[in-house]
This record gives sequence, structure tokens and C-alpha cells, in this order.
Amino acid sequence: MKLKGMKIGFVPTMGALHPGHLSLIKKAKEQNQLVVCSIFVNPTQFTEKSDLTNYPRPIIEDTQLLESAGCNVLFHPSTEEMYESKEEWNIDLGELEEKWEGAFRQGHFQGVTQIVKKLFDVVQPDTAYLGQKDYQQFLIIKKMVQLLKLPVKLVCCPIMRENDGLAMSSRNIHLSPQERQTALIISRTLAFVKELFPFKSVEGLTKEAVLLLNSKEDIKVEYFALVDTETMELVKDKKSSKGIIACVAARVGKTRLIDNEILA
Ligand code: AMP
Repeated sequence: MKLKGMKIGFVPTMGALHPGHLSLIKKAKEQNQLVVCSIFVNPTQFTEKSDLTNYPRPIIEDTQLLESAGCNVLFHPSTEEMYESKEEWNIDLGELEEKWEGAFRQGHFQGVTQIVKKLFDVVQPDTAYLGQKDYQQFLIIKKMVQLLKLPVKLVCCPIMRENDGLAMSSRNIHLSPQERQTALIISRTLAFVKELFPFKSVEGLTKEAVLLLNSKEDIKVEYFALVDTETMELVKDKKSSKGIIACVAARVGKTRLIDNEILA
């Protein structure tokens, strides 16, 4: 139901809320009269069963955090509420779907768009607030909004980090103390690349970054790349793109982490 004249800001999440999620709620509150948050661990976007099973679901703590943050409505549906037993979804997202996250998590973005479309239909937000943390996901949702002509504005919010630089993530709780130390190499590498970006070539930066990431044991780099901020195509040289972002995905122990830094 649309409330007359009230702007609705929407923050879709999978729960296990942290200050990163809450920064999206805060932004939504600044720009809207009503803020809706959804918590739904969406099975269709998971590509590993154990990841889905082990995904944290602290709903009581989450509800308290949302109340303190001034969120007006929590939408926390069951899987049965969101999905019929047999459902097809296929949207042509073009090349963006096959790259990076899409290559390592086949079908992931079909699942993401499937649930986000349903959530937009239910909530009917004026604006949805999404995190730069999942940058490719942001571009994918933007593409879906354009393709389907959905009447939703998208806002991309900055990455919230722990004091030592680790990007906040609901999956960080799976890291052992030692793995958490190892994981710091990810944000440190991105900071290093950002600092040296004005002085080094794309190729040189990429080589050094990969070396730095691999300098730790117990890390398995899936990709590190400097890509165009619109298409996520690999950047060959700095002049060929208007915007450049460094994106990384790596496994530390069993935990898969992603992070990025906008460079230009
Ligand atoms: P998730 O619950 O992981 O699906 O994330 C829900 C939303 O919060 C997505 O739009 C994410 O990009 C965003 N988000 C996740 N981590 C962070 C972070 N560290 N800082 C800001 N936003 C984030």
C-alpha cells in the first residue's frame, strides 16, 4: 500500500545486521518519510548449500537494531511466502552477469534479480539503498530497473569498515581470529592500490596487488581486477575508462570475502 505523499526508502538485506546495513537505513531515513527494511536469506542466489545453511540469522538482535535505527517497517517473509514451489526466472542481464562474481557464482545474479524484483513489487519503494560493497550487484540491479522500467531510484552507499579496514560483512563472524588477521590483506591491498594509482600503470598495479594478496597463507584469491565502473570490463589503461574500480574476491579459510575501492 502506498501512503499518500510519503516517500518510501527501502533497504533490502539478508540480515545479521551490522553498521554497514545501518548506514543504509540512516541514509534512507534522511531522504524519506518511511523506511522499510527487508530481511530475507534468499535461497535462489546462493551457489553453495553450506553457505545458505550457515548464513547467520539473529532475527531478535536484528529487530532491536532496526528499532534503534528508527526503521519503520521490517519485512521478514518466509521462503514459502516469497516463492511458489516451481518458479522460473530468467532475465537477460547481458555480459555483466557473466563477469567476476557471476563467473565464480553461476546463477547468482539471476537469483538476486528474482528476489529484488519481488521485493520491489511488495514494498513499492521510491528509492532503494544499496551498498557499494556489492558493487556488481548494484550495477546488475540498475540494469534490471532499466530493462523492466521499474519506478525505483537507486542510491549506492559507501562501504563501512571496521577500524582496521576490514569491510563489514555478515560473513565475517565465520572468520577465526587468525583468518581475520589474514583477511586484512584485502583492504590493505586496496588501500595500497588507491595510493599508488596516480603513479603506476594498470598492469603494474594489478601485478603488485596480486602479489600482495598472495603473500599470506590461507588466502585463495578468486579475482583481483581494475575494471570500468559502468561495464566492469577490464581496464587496459587509465585513459580508456571514465571511472575505474578495483574489485577483489578471495577465500580466507572457508569464508568468501569481497571488497572494492573506487580509484577514479
Ligand atoms: P546483505 O545483507 O549482505 O545482502 O547486504 C544488504 C545490503 O547492505 C547490500 O546492499 C550490501 O551492499 C549492503 N552492505 C553490506 N555490507 C556493507 C558495508 N560494509 N557497508 C555498506 N553497505 C553494506
